[in-house]
Amino acid sequence: MSEIRRVGVLGAGTMGNGIAHVFARSGLEVWLCDIEQRFLDRGLETIQRNLEREAAKQKISAEEAAAAMARIQGTLDRKSLAECDFVIEAATEKFEVKRQLFTELDTLLPKHVILASNTSSISITKLAALTKRPEQVIGMHFFNPVPVMKLVEVIRGLATSRTTYESVKALAEKLGKTPVEVNDAPGFVSNRVLMPLLNEAMYAVMEGVATPEAVDEVFKLGMAHPMGPLTLADFIGLDVCLDIMRVLHEGLGDPKYRPCPLLIKMVDAGWLGRKSGRGFYRYQ
Ligand code: NAD
Repeated sequence: MSEIRRVGVLGAGTMGNGIAHVFARSGLEVWLCDIEQRFLDRGLETIQRNLEREAAKQKISAEEAAAAMARIQGTLDRKSLAECDFVIEAATEKFEVKRQLFTELDTLLPKHVILASNTSSISITKLAALTKRPEQVIGMHFFNPVPVMKLVEVIRGLATSRTTYESVKALAEKLGKTPVEVNDAPGFVSNRVLMPLLNEAMYAVMEGVATPEAVDEVFKLGMAHPMGPLTLADFIGLDVCLDIMRVLHEGLGDPKYRPCPLLIKMVDAGWLGRKSGRGFYRYQ
C-alpha cells in the first residue's frame, strides 16, 4: 500500500466539506468534487469559515488555516480524482447515486486505491460488490460536525481486507480521530443503538407518557446526555431518522425496530426538525 498524500472527497455537503477540512488540516492534498458549481462553492465557503473560526479560537494558527485552505482544490470533473491515493464518497444517501459513483470510480482509479464511503446506512458489502476491488472498499463513517467529533466508525464489509482496515485506521488517527472497528450490519453500531432510543422517546411522547421537554430533561439531567433524544432527532432531521429506522426494520427483520407512527406522521406533514423550522420543537 503506497503512502496516502492526496485524497479525493466526493460530495461537498454537510459531511463532505467537513471531511475535506480535516484531511487538509492534517497536511493532505484534497480534491473536493461535487456535481454543481454552487454546491462546490458553498462547501468551500463553509470550510473557509470553519478554518477561520478555528484560528480565531486559537486551535490552529492563521497560517495553518490558510495553508489548509490552499491544499483543497474544488472540481466538477471526477476524472481529476484519478491521481488520488485514497477516495471517500460522501454524496447524497441514495443507493443509485452511490452505485453510479462506485462503478465509475472503480474503472477510474488505479487498482491499489482504497474506496471508502461515509454512508450512514447503506451496506458496505453491497457497495464493495459493485467493484472489482471489494477487499479495498470500506466504510469510514464520520460524525457531524466532522472537525469537532472525535469518532470514526470504520466498517469492514464482508470482503474488506485487514490491510485496508489498517490503512484506514492509521488515516483516521492521522486526522486526530479515534477509529472504532465495526463489522458491516444495518445501522452499524452508532445508528443501530442510537435510533431505537430516539424512536422509543417518540413513542413515549405519542402515548402521552411525557412531553418532549420532559423526555429530554430526563436524559440531560439523569443520564448526562448533552442533548435530549427529541432535540437530537430534530437536529439530525426527522426524515433521516425515519429512513434509518426503515433500514433497521427491513435489514434486521425484527418488529422492535418499527418506526414510531408519530415519526411517520410528522415527516408526512413536512415537520422535519430544525431544518424545516418545526419538529418536536419550533425553530425561528
Ligand atoms: P448533503 O446533502 O449535505 O451533501 C451531499 C452532497 O453530495 C451534495 O452537495 C450533492 O450535490 C453531492 N452529490 C450528489 N451526487 C453526487 C455525485 N455523483 N458526485 C459528487 N457529489 C454528489 O448530505 P450529507 O449530510 O453531507 O451526507 C452525505 C453522506 O454522509 C451520506 O451518505 C450520509 O448518509 C452520510 N452521513 C451524514 C451525516 C449527517 O449528520 N449529515 C452523518 C454521517 C454520515
